[in-house]
Order: sequence, then C-alpha cells, then structure tokens
Amino acid sequence: MPKYLTLTDYAQITGSAPIKRQTHGWRAKCLQRLVRLDMPVPQTVALSFAVVREIATGAQMNLRHLLGHFPKGQLLSVRPSAEHPEWGGPAAILNIGMNDEMHAQISETHGAAVATALYLRFVQSYAAHVAHLDPDMFDAVEPSMTALHAALREYESEVEEPFPQSPAQQLADVLRSMARAWEGTSARLLRQAKGAPVDAGLGLVVQAMAGGVGIGLSGAGLIRFIDTDTGVPNVMGRFRSDGQHGADALKNGENVLYLTRDPRGPSLEEYCPDAYAQLLEHGRNARQRLREEMEIEFTLDDGKLWVLDAITVQRSSRAAVRVVVDLANDNIILRDEALMRIPPKALSELLHRQVDPRSRPEVFASGIAASPGAAIGRIVFSSGAAQASAARDEACILVRRETTPEDIRGMHAASAVLTERGGMTSHAAVIGRGLGVPCVVGVSRVQIDARRKTLTAGGRTLSEGDVVTVDGTSGHIFLGEVPLLEPALDDRFQTLLSWADARRDIGIRANADTPADARIARDFLAQGIGLCRTEHMFFEDDRLTLMREMIFADTAEDRSDALERLLPMQRADFIDLFEIMQGQPVCIRLFDPPLHEFLPHSKEGLRFLADALGKPLSEITRRAEALSEFNPMLGMRGVRLGVTIPEIYEMQVRAIFEATIEISRRDAHIVPEIMIPLVSAMREVELVKSRIDAAAAAVRSRSGGTFDYKLGVMVETPRAALRAGDIALHASFLSFGTNDLTQMTYGLSRDDAGRFMSVYVQQGVFPEDPFHTLDLDGVGELLRLGAERGRAARDDLTLSICGEHGGNPESIRFCRDLGFDYVSCSPFRVPVARLAAAQLVIAEELS
Ligand code: PEP
Ligand code: MG
Repeated sequence: MPKYLTLTDYAQITGSAPIKRQTHGWRAKCLQRLVRLDMPVPQTVALSFAVVREIATGAQMNLRHLLGHFPKGQLLSVRPSAEHPEWGGPAAILNIGMNDEMHAQISETHGAAVATALYLRFVQSYAAHVAHLDPDMFDAVEPSMTALHAALREYESEVEEPFPQSPAQQLADVLRSMARAWEGTSARLLRQAKGAPVDAGLGLVVQAMAGGVGIGLSGAGLIRFIDTDTGVPNVMGRFRSDGQHGADALKNGENVLYLTRDPRGPSLEEYCPDAYAQLLEHGRNARQRLREEMEIEFTLDDGKLWVLDAITVQRSSRAAVRVVVDLANDNIILRDEALMRIPPKALSELLHRQVDPRSRPEVFASGIAASPGAAIGRIVFSSGAAQASAARDEACILVRRETTPEDIRGMHAASAVLTERGGMTSHAAVIGRGLGVPCVVGVSRVQIDARRKTLTAGGRTLSEGDVVTVDGTSGHIFLGEVPLLEPALDDRFQTLLSWADARRDIGIRANADTPADARIARDFLAQGIGLCRTEHMFFEDDRLTLMREMIFADTAEDRSDALERLLPMQRADFIDLFEIMQGQPVCIRLFDPPLHEFLPHSKEGLRFLADALGKPLSEITRRAEALSEFNPMLGMRGVRLGVTIPEIYEMQVRAIFEATIEISRRDAHIVPEIMIPLVSAMREVELVKSRIDAAAAAVRSRSGGTFDYKLGVMVETPRAALRAGDIALHASFLSFGTNDLTQMTYGLSRDDAGRFMSVYVQQGVFPEDPFHTLDLDGVGELLRLGAERGRAARDDLTLSICGEHGGNPESIRFCRDLGFDYVSCSPFRVPVARLAAAQLVIAEELS
C-alpha cells in the first residue's frame, strides 16, 4: 500500500512561502527571490528534499491537488533544485501534459507543426529519462506527424503499454524517475566530488510552461550583463525563436537572434524592443537586489516576457574580481563582502597566463602543479640550450630529470620548466615560483633521454624543438600550442588588494633573491623581503668561477683572496636590494647549500675547471669526490659551513654592512636582518654571532659610519624548534623554514617525495602533500612549541614563516593564530597572501 503524502508537502512559490535553500534547494529559493522582485515568473510549485526522498521510496503525492494550482490543460516542466547548483540533478523534463487531446487543441490554436513538435519532444524526453528507453530509437531529425506516430508506436512496443495520456500519471512518473535518479550511485558520486554531503537532498520545482510556442515572437533565451571573461559590463546571450528554455538558445540554427543590435543579423532589440527593455530593467534590478551579476533565463510568448530562472553568472577569476569591486563601488555590497567573495587562490590566475578553460587540448603527461601559469615553447634538454633559445628570442620549455642550482640561468631563460622528479619544495618548484616561471615537477611517467634529446610518455616521443604547452596551474603538459588567456593586473585587482591591506593584521613579506624578484615583491606591495637566499647570487658566470677557486683554494690566503674578489659583487647585490626595497626590511640568509653544488657534475665540466684553475684533472676530480656527500641535505651545509669555514659568512656580513653604510650615504636608511640557516644548537648561534659582531665593529671603525643590524635564526631543524628558548637568547627573530622542517620532521626527502607522494595521498596516509599544505598536527606542533618557547625567553621576539607554505591561506591562519608577525612567500603569492590575511580578520569579526 503506497504512502500518500499530504497537501503540506509542497509550496506554491510566492513572496512569503516558507521556502529555504536548505529545504527546497537553490532554484526554488532563487525563484522566490525573483517573485519578490516582481519579475514575471510562471506559476511554480516547489517540492522539498524530504518529499522528494519519500517519492523516491514509493510514496505518492496528491497530484490532483497539485495540478489544481495550474489552469486545466496547462503544460508543465519539472526541474531539479539541489542545495547548490554545482551539485547538478536529473535533466529537466518539459511539456508534461502533452497528449493526443492537447495535440489536437494546440493544432487548432497554434498550428499542427507546433503541436507535433511539442508532443514529439515530450515523447522523446519521457522515453529517454522516465521510461529509460534507448534515446537513439526516438531520435527523429525533423518533427513531423510520421515521426510522432513512429515514436508513439516505438514507445508502445518497448513498454508494452500505450504512451500515458493522463497528465497526472505523466507528472507522477516524471517526479518518481527524477527522485530516483538522484539516489543513483553515479549521480551521488558526481555530486560528492563537487563537495555535496552524502545525504544531500534534491528539491523539484513544477512550473507552468511559458511561451516558446506563441503565434507572435516566441522562443527562449539567456541574457547576462557582463563579459564573462573580463567582467566588463556588456549585454551578452542569445535568443532562439523556436526554443522553450534557455538551453535551447545555446544550440545553433537559423532561428537564433542576437540580443542587442548587431550588423551580423537580426536582434531581439529590434524585433521586440519592449521585452528587451524589460530584460535590461530586470537585470539592473536583480544586480541591485540580489547583489550579484545574474544570468536570466527567459521566454517570450507572443512577445510577452516570462522569467524562468536566474543564476549567478559563471565567470573567470578576472571577471569575478571586477564584479565584486564594481558592486562595492556602487554601494551594493560592502568592501568586506567583496573581499570575502574572492577565493584567494583565484588571484594567482590573474597573475599569470592561463590555459583558456574553453579549450580542450590533448594531455601528453601530468605531474605536480608546482608553479602556476601556462607557457608555450619548444622543448630543450639543457640549461645551455635554454639560454641559446632565449638569445634567439625563441620561447622554450626546459626539460630536466631534476634541476640543480646550476640550472638557474636556464630556468631564467625558459618560459616553463618540466622535471621528471621532485615535489612541491624541490629546487625546480621553489625557483619556478620565485621567478614566476610555470613549472610542473614529478612528471614520473615520462622518460627523458637527455643524450638523444627525447621525451616519451604514453607511447609518444617528442624530440628537441617540438612544441608543448606547460600548465603549471593544473600540472598538465599538452601537445602543441594551446590558447592562453593573458594576465590581468588591472586597477580592480589593485583596488581589491588595497582594501585587503586595510583589513589585515599580519605582515606579508616576499622571498626574493635577486633584484628582479625584489622588484616584483615591491610591485606587489610586499612589506619587505623575508628571505633572500644569497647562494643564488653565486651562480652568475663570473662568480661561479671565483666560488670554485674559493672551494679549491690550497691555503687560507688563496681562499681569502677569492672571497675578497667576491665581496664587491655581493656588496653591489645588497646595495641593489636595499635600494629597490626603499627602506622596507630585508632579511638576508647567509650561505646555505653544500659546497659541492657549485662544482661541475660532468667529466667535461671537471676538465674545463681543471684548465681554468691550472690544476691537474686528477686533483680536481679527487677533491670534488671528497666534497660529495651521501645525503647532502643533512651534511655540510648551512650554519655548519659557517662554523667550519667562517670566512664565507665573514665575507657576506661584511658585504651587508658595507652596503648598509653605502645606502646611508645616499640618505636612505636600512637595518639589515641577517639570518643563520639550519641551526640546531645554541652554540652555533653564539659562535657565528660573535664573528658577525666583530665584523660589524671592524666595518664601523674602518668606515667611520654607524649602523644597526638584527640577527635571527632560521628554525628548520626539529631541534631548533624544541630549543627555541635557548636560541632566542641570541636572536632577535626566528623564521620557520618549513621546507626543511617538513623534510626533517617526516624524514622525507623534499626532492624525492614526488615519486610516491600521489600514492600516499590517494591511500590516505597523508591528507595532502605536506610540502604543499603545512602539516598542522606534526610540523605545526613544532611551530607552536618553537613560538611559545622563543617568546617565553624573549617577549619582543619577531616570529615568521618563510618556507613555501608561507603563501598558503591555511598556513597564514595557523601562523596568525600563533601570533606570528609576518609570513614570507614567493613574490607571486604575495597578492594571494594579502587577501587571505584580510579574510581571516573579517571572518573572525563575523563569527
Ligand atoms: C626552508 O627550508 O623552509 C627554506 C625556506 O629554505 P630553503 O628552501 O632554501 O631550504
Ligand atoms: Mg631550508
């Protein structure tokens, strides 16, 4: 015995009906808003999630009562109404109520052709979606009486019953099939992938069909009021004179009209100026009252306008920024709301070229999306070849198994970088993000043959010179040239960020190693440099040779001679940085990498070096081997070099202090911040600090100038975090280097993790790649302990984060909660961080 539902289980949509998005879905709620705006919405009844769930399990509605809301003979449509439009729903069914009798009646009033087209259309969609018959069998090309009779016969022979003639039965069957379709496994998985909860409900709206079949100008259309790529106000959309709902207008055909006057063909503005003017008015009204840019789905019935629906316009990130800024400038929404409506990560799409989302290119291979943006170029397999391409003004993509500091110039020259190995904090990824060069790493399914200069994936082989498009935003490599969208740093973008700056309460600095990085950082209004990795300054041609001389020096004099010649170069670097940053703080990290990174890796390179240094190849090879380490990440690097070969740090700090004096002579002022990397014990800091103090005293007395400086420690070993209390006694700031800290906390090589990270994430071992998303439970615990112990020892201690996580909204939240003073991230992530930081303040106030 089926359960019968009562009359209260549905609501006619009026301005005051008890309709909520959480109970009746977004469409029902949206229709109610349109009714409240006095838009001509056809009569509509909404069924709640609970009712639809009952229908799916066999309960029946009192359809005679429901149908009583509509005039007799009214054709109806049923459409899905989930809580969020992205969660989808079964296909809408139109023209419910079409039967032999209606066919005859409409033939009288509108002509046989219209009646037949309507009936056939209904039989087709009923057969496919309600009776679940093979849609191909009902695919008549042109509607005709013969096609209609064939479809009705086909239906009867497949179902063994005549096509249902009772509108109540038709409606009951449609409601049941839509309710059940929602419960199907694939529908559930699809919506869950879009964020719907397991128990997400479906509402249904039953609406009077309006228009599309009138005698005068009739049809269906879609109208929106902005350009969806740019957000610039512009009437866009289409109208189709034989359409019945918005989707029809998107199909091509003879009956399509432009909306506004257009030299290419007829337009709605000319044919039906009244309806066109009303649409513009409704658009203005909807923007003002619904506080959004809407797309309106409408029909015309003998020239009378009906509004079937309105949804927020799908738009690019660039358009989204323009829309919210314009809404706030027009006093329709508050600035805070404008800030909250833009997901911070969307801003990074505006900073780089992007693959046009409308293109459907062929994927050649995929990896980890390590540095956003897209670039097209010919593939090359060495840094030398990348530089040669750049010299010819030819865009190239640098393909390497992994990059090393030697590849920096090649990366500078390349339009994008692809590496087989590596993860989010591997060399290529960090440098790519710093330079703003798109980068995909850990493309583990490719085979690179650097000697033959080929790249193979999925049975296809590309050779040097072949063109690919690298998308560092999605992690895909596409064959050939793919259409790209240009970056959009327009005034709306700057305005939104200026509003963000007025709200945020945590500092945002940039990691910048070169003058070019520093300029980007300044242009993005970073509040200083939070990490300058000085080793990158030693890879320029002239310096690399000197560096190698220093490494191979036989005596202390030879070493200090090489350093003495490096000093003016370093000093010039720092003067440049200080000038560009115009008095903003600059935090300089002393030399960090193991020395062997500066040595050639090939036999040929070693031979070349032996020549340059005038030493036997055997000696160069022996000493290069002696410098190599099994695990250089945990070997002779960072402060360990500072303690064992103190002359390097002494040269660097002298260069910093002399640059400071030079800047003060130019009437500017800077208090340089000097940071010691890879510390694990307080004594390391003591030793280095006493030498730095001595160097400062020597520069002061030699130059007669005065200056201050700050000394800080980079917390990137677990022990440094645990002993932050001792360490803070000698440091005025602690900056958490979460790349190394993550590596050491997990015991996971940041360069090799890419190989298995996806398996680990898929199997739920890690919720996310911890080099990408800060592990709040483990690494975060060390940050918390370090911050607490450091501040307990010294309450004026400045705290910050400078690992790659520094630009992620989730890490910014965590660091702000711990009372950090600033976060520092790649220059291109500064805008994202500025917005994310503002959202934290606003969200806190709202809650
Ligand atoms: C870090 O380890 O987090 C860091 C910022 O330094 P690097 O990436 O240069 O090791
Ligand atoms: Mg580090």
